[in-house]
Formats: sequence, C-alpha cells, structure tokens
Amino acid sequence: MPELPEVQAHAERLDAAFSGAVLERFVPLSFTALKTAVPPTGDAHGHPLVFMGRRGKYLLLDLGVLTFVVHLMQGGRLRVDEKQSAKPRNGVARWVFADGRALLLTEAGTERKAGVWAVAGDPETQAPLDRLGPEADLVEPGTLLEAFRATPMRLHGLLRDQRILAGVGRRLANEVCHRACLSPFASTGKLGAAEAGTVVEPIRACVNESLAVERGRDDMSSSAERPGNVHGRAGDACPVCGDTVRSVEYRAYRIDYCPTCQTGGKLLADNTTSKFLR
Ligand SMILES: [Zn+2]
Repeated sequence: MPELPEVQAHAERLDAAFSGAVLERFVPLSFTALKTAVPPTGDAHGHPLVFMGRRGKYLLLDLGVLTFVVHLMQGGRLRVDEKQSAKPRNGVARWVFADGRALLLTEAGTERKAGVWAVAGDPETQAPLDRLGPEADLVEPGTLLEAFRATPMRLHGLLRDQRILAGVGRRLANEVCHRACLSPFASTGKLGAAEAGTVVEPIRACVNESLAVERGRDDMSSSAERPGNVHGRAGDACPVCGDTVRSVEYRAYRIDYCPTCQTGGKLLADNTTSKFLR
C-alpha cells in the first residue's frame, strides 16, 4: 500500500502538472466510488484546482468550494488518463479538466475499497480525515510516549494505527521497528521515554529516505522498488548484522524483522491470532 512518502511525492507531481486547471466534471465510474452524498460534486465544476495535497495516506484535490479526498488503499492509483475511454479497466472515478486532460482513479484487484469523499469546508474536521492522528514524520517523542501509555498494544500495530500516527503502513512499520532495534511485538505499555525517542528518529529517517526516492521518479513506485532493510526481504541477510531476516505470517500480510537486531535472537510466533481458529 502506498504510504506517506509515496502519496506525498505523487501529490507533488500531480500538483505541478494540474494545479490551476479548471475542472469540467467529476465522473464516478463505479457504484462504490463516491463515499459522500453531500455536497454535490457538481459544485466543483467550473472551478480551478487550487492545489493537490496529502494528509496521512489520503490525496487531497482542493477545488476551493470543495475538496476531493481520495484513498488509494492497496491497489488504487491516480494517474493522467491518456485514453479517456468510456469504460476504463478498473476505473473508479475520473476528473475531466477544461483543457482536455483528465485524471483517472483505478483500483486493481477485487477489493473495491479505494474511494472518494467530497467535503465542503475544512476537510481536517470532517470524515474521513477527522479521525487521523498527527503526521507520522512530525510526531514528537512526548506525543508518542503518551500514545504508548494510552494504547497498550504491539508496537507494529500502534505505528500502523492511523488514529495515532497518520501515514505509516506495514512497510514503514517494519523498517521503523528494525531501525529502532525493537521487536514488532514489543508491548507499547512497557516502553518508556527512551524508546519513544528511539522510535521517532527512524520514522523521520525512513520517511525522508523514501521521499527522496519517490521524488526522483515519474510515477509512484511499486512496493518491490521501495527501499528497506527487512520489509519483503525474509530469507535475505540483514544488511546491518548479517542474520537472516524472518517473518511472521498473517492471512493478508507478513511482519518482517531481524532476530539479532530486534528480539535478542528470539524467533517470533503469533499466539493471539491463530489462523487455525478462523
Ligand atoms: Zn540484523
């Protein structure tokens, strides 16, 4: 799933190409595309795109009178629509501009979770953005420590909780735990101020490294192209210590980690969510 750095760089690319362009019409292409009934999206027709931005993992198309909030989820992509065909493959929604160009939201796969919210007024105070925590790369150690204490859970899960930190997904959570030399299963209720400080720095470093990679590209990277030490590298040697990167497998994803760097050599097994009980 695209995370903070991928979405940020993509917003910057589209902003450079489309800001100022006048929206002729917004066209939902699937029944699940538009998540809001009011305001009518037609209110934005005839208005220029003020800017393309980002909050958490959401793309924002600010048309002044309203903002389109777009979530790509796992397989969604927002790209320049060269063909503008009547029934585009995997099409979710389309923005057609008065200069003849268009942007197309697609979603690969069968999940049908990518979507668009139209929001009038301040989008920060309304669904879906109102539930988001602070931007992950801006969070201070004190805020993170408060979250540790208020929400005792596994570190990997807390990092991915968008209400606590906005923008981190599985890849960044894997990489942050590795750089912080903390187990992904570490209980946040037992972590203190030292660990909060230890986690904040890798969040910023991982976000900034990925941003640099993404900003050098013409389009959003695929997950295999993103930098990292452990994510998606189970079986490989850890670049820090040479131990073999391991993973804990879930039905839909894996947590990757290095035993020597993160768990004192202990292999992790998940006893709380056995797949045999489902
Ligand atoms: Zn290691």
